[in-house]
Amino acid sequence: MIAPVSKGERQAFDALRALYGRLDREIAALGPVCRTRGLCCRFEEAGHELFATDLEVDYAASLHPAAPPPEAPGRCPYHRGGLCLAREGRPLGCRVYFCDPGYAGKMPEVHERAYAEIRAIAAAAGYEHRYRRFPEALADRRGIGRP
Ligand code: SF4
Repeated sequence: MIAPVSKGERQAFDALRALYGRLDREIAALGPVCRTRGLCCRFEEAGHELFATDLEVDYAASLHPAAPPPEAPGRCPYHRGGLCLAREGRPLGCRVYFCDPGYAGKMPEVHERAYAEIRAIAAAAGYEHRYRRFPEALADRRGIGRP
């Protein structure tokens, strides 16, 4: 059960939603191709990790308040059968990352700019800055994905 969000959180969520919308349009215009659908969510196979701010964790949890335990240790609990159960609320890292080599050079700049905006939104809402593994943060803050 997710507690109702405060007015400050609601404003931060609205700002984050607007940012995600702009970001999704910007990335779509850059035209990255998803070649290995779902591999990037299987962190242990892809060889990377997903980090997120607490604001992003709370936003995702507000839209997707439940998920079963992860399919494999350390994975995102929203990854089920190759699909994302949290498309609308997924964090920045999931939106920006594509394995398309033709896009890879643009990714750091797009990510850093959006990350700075997210940090500013979070700070204005009174969030302490934390940036940590998304699955652990979901379980820690909202109990999502716990066995
Ligand atoms: S939130 Fe969705 S896209 Fe991001 S790691 Fe989890 S399942 Fe994958």
